[in-house]
Amino acid sequence: MNPFDYTVAHSVDAAVSALGGSGRPSKILAGGTTLVDLMRLNVEQPAAVVDITRIPGLNHIDTEGREALVFGALARMSDVADDPVVRRDYPVLSESLWRAASQQLRNMASLGGNLLQRTRCAYFRDRQYPCNKREPGTGCSALEGLNRGHAVLGVSDQCIAVYPGDLAIALVALNASIDVQSTAGARTLRVADLHREPGQTPNLETALRPDELILRIRVPKSRLGKASTYLKIRDRESYAFAVASAAVALDMDGDVIRDVRIAVGGLATRPWRAHAAEQSLVGKTFTEAAAAQAGRLSLQGAATRPQNAFRVELGANTVAEALKIARERA
Ligand SMILES: Cc1cc2nc3c(=O)[nH]c(=O)nc-3n(C[C@H](O)[C@H](O)[C@H](O)COP(=O)(O)OP(=O)(O)OC[C@H]3O[C@@H](n4cnc5c(N)ncnc54)[C@H](O)[C@@H]3O)c2cc1C
Ligand code: SF4
Repeated sequence: MNPFDYTVAHSVDAAVSALGGSGRPSKILAGGTTLVDLMRLNVEQPAAVVDITRIPGLNHIDTEGREALVFGALARMSDVADDPVVRRDYPVLSESLWRAASQQLRNMASLGGNLLQRTRCAYFRDRQYPCNKREPGTGCSALEGLNRGHAVLGVSDQCIAVYPGDLAIALVALNASIDVQSTAGARTLRVADLHREPGQTPNLETALRPDELILRIRVPKSRLGKASTYLKIRDRESYAFAVASAAVALDMDGDVIRDVRIAVGGLATRPWRAHAAEQSLVGKTFTEAAAAQAGRLSLQGAATRPQNAFRVELGANTVAEALKIARERA
């Protein structure tokens, strides 16, 4: 690990000025479960680390407001997963959190850090291999290497790494947004606009500027919350990243689908909202055939490699199954 400056920020203003002020590559430290890992591997080499864990009030969970659920960026994964209102009214959120990582990690990790976790592509994490995301222009070892776990949606000829997080998939399905702050001021952006597809610049992963701090996540309150689920398929039953996942939320009028949200995870380079699949269902009677068709539409445009081609059918089936679970909850 390279030497770095370590600053403890006691306020949001102190954190953003420490981030923006040094003129050197700086990183925020929250739970540290991604950042410290990557610093030990010398994949992340910040000159300065700004610890935000002592900033008061950034870990709040507010489910009482009329318009939105509000989670501070430092709210712990385990606390939000266990919140009684979240569990009862937004199971897709609770399930996306408790099906992620391990209990120990969920007790350390923050929601803000979870959104900004980086890919688990083994070549990205091992500096002896070329990787366009880590070192632009060096090549992508996964294209002709081991790519069973790589993306089939949103890929480019420069990078096929999966966005690995679970929470962001549920947040995209629920039209959530984040409030961010830098020395230039505050702004709000949709979680759907936070992560970028790799294109020709896989090293640029999000729409955040380097000096922007996530303050909170807002999830609009909606009737869609209750009949929702996060279905995660993985190689092991627990403590594993998704091979395929689906966040689904339904609003039913009897047997007819009034509104539906579908997002897929574990299959794409960023959280992937399946708009065409949603449109195929709105106003229709819920049937197994309609769910299966929506599953297939969710994977429309998939670009596979021989080792990961199985994930197209797996992803379609995961969406269809999640729709059936949500239907049972409606
Ligand atoms: C073994 C293992 C298994 C895992 N399995 C899963 C899984 O199945 N599903 C899943 O979703 N995740 C999984 N994870 C990832 C884990 O959930 C993340 O590491 C964790 O959520 C990151 O949160 P953190 O607070 O520790 O972030 P940190 O490590 O502190 O930060 C992560 C990144 O976010 C930045 N950051 C943090 N907070 C802010 C903020 N407020 N504003 C701006 N930038 C910020 C940091 O600078 C850093 O770049 C796993 C991790 C491990 C180690
Ligand atoms: S898939 Fe992306 S992260 Fe993995 S080696 Fe290729 S460029 Fe790097």
